[in-house]
Amino acid sequence: MTLDTIAAISTGMSHSGIGIIRITGADSFSVIDKIYKGKKRLSKEPSHTIHYGHIVNDGEMVDEVLVSILRAPRTFTGEDTVEIHCHGGTFVVTKVLEVVLKTGVRVAAPGEFTKRAFLNGKMDLSQAEAVMDVIQAQNEYALKSSLGQLKGSVKGKIKTIREKIIYYTAFIETALDNPEHISVEGFGEMLYKEVEGLIRALKQLIDSADNGRVLKEGIQTVIVGKPNVGKSSLLNVLAGKERAIVTEIAGTTRDALEEQIQLDGLSLQIIDTAGIRETADRIEQLGVNKAKEYVENSDLIIYVVDASRPLDKDDHKICQLVYDKKIVVLLNKSDLTTVVTRELLQEIFFQIHSNEEQRNNIPMIDISAKEEEGIDEFSRTIKKMFLKKEISFNEEVFITNTRQKEALIKAYESLHKVMESIANQLPEDFYSIDLMDAYEALGHITGESIGEDLIDEIFSKFCVGK
Ligand code: GDP
Repeated sequence: MTLDTIAAISTGMSHSGIGIIRITGADSFSVIDKIYKGKKRLSKEPSHTIHYGHIVNDGEMVDEVLVSILRAPRTFTGEDTVEIHCHGGTFVVTKVLEVVLKTGVRVAAPGEFTKRAFLNGKMDLSQAEAVMDVIQAQNEYALKSSLGQLKGSVKGKIKTIREKIIYYTAFIETALDNPEHISVEGFGEMLYKEVEGLIRALKQLIDSADNGRVLKEGIQTVIVGKPNVGKSSLLNVLAGKERAIVTEIAGTTRDALEEQIQLDGLSLQIIDTAGIRETADRIEQLGVNKAKEYVENSDLIIYVVDASRPLDKDDHKICQLVYDKKIVVLLNKSDLTTVVTRELLQEIFFQIHSNEEQRNNIPMIDISAKEEEGIDEFSRTIKKMFLKKEISFNEEVFITNTRQKEALIKAYESLHKVMESIANQLPEDFYSIDLMDAYEALGHITGESIGEDLIDEIFSKFCVGK
């Protein structure tokens, strides 16, 4: 399959030091020869070299540039590639791109460079998706897990499982074709054990997706508590220098601000609603429903109590609102003489919470926002609540992608059917049908059994130039 030559601006469209225009495809070198002026003719230069010169348009200089020459197949896309490093102003990069496009190449669609890499066999679909995840990674864990996937961690696991499945299927098919030569005696029992092993491996991957989501998207958090209990002080401590990262979320009221906080490598998106924050009475003004909505849509509630002042009916209201969510209670102001104890709080939850186990397991931590005490314990608690186990990136693979998770579940279910068929002593050809279903489903992850429409859809979510 020959693909046409495409080009796009690969760096962000903002004023910056440099901007990069990437060209890939069979005509890349003839294109650069037409528009580059320097000491050499770049199409004759060796691969993986970089050259100083100018981009010219009708004899007129457009910008001073460095140009990388990258020959197929050792390139990102697997095709001849040229990268023009020009000055980073939005006007000048656009101008250079225009000059490139004048030679007749086409502007790349979103994700088209990565799509080429996939189509040319440079990476499988799980790796292509990891490219996007690396770009979007917001924290240490997300980056590490995406880089692992980019290196082929998911691809490797899936490949091994698929190879086993195809081996068993082939055995069944051959045996059924040659009953006089190949016996299926005892095969069912053997297959049962093998499939059990595959199911275990799939289960591990599926379970990793819970961690994966937390790693990738962060923890949606709402902070609640009466006025003056120390919520802003706590936020300040948690945010440290990163306080500046405040983003207004579209579609929410003026009350809501989302702040991103890094806690030991995990991200917390903390919704700081003036409505919930200001007073418990404000909750009523705002409408309990609105507050409830914030609470409902969150993964975690941080409930801050001023431990130096007695609890009152407002605390009851807050407990009522949040009791059935994942909560951490912070008994703040531990540096003062305190009057609120865990037992007193537990008693409130006791009155409203019917599930004894959950009720007794609400973590309560003494902190002092002022003295910055108890923050480490808070951070350890969050990790314990949200990560199934301590994360090591050495050998473990994390699924961070819902599409991949769905495919894994499908394969998992099909393999369960295989086990059922064996247990019910159904004929062997029943096994192979479900084995092939599992094989297909897993092929969706690597991109080996996936329709063109779906491929287009996946890559359309990428950014242009990647
Ligand atoms: P918010 O209304 O819940 O956001 O509370 P603030 O963070 O504005 O704090 C209210 C008051 O309590 C301020 O005067 C803080 O300095 C004080 N405060 C906050 N945390 C602590 C703490 O841990 N110890 C003491 N002693 N005072 C605190």
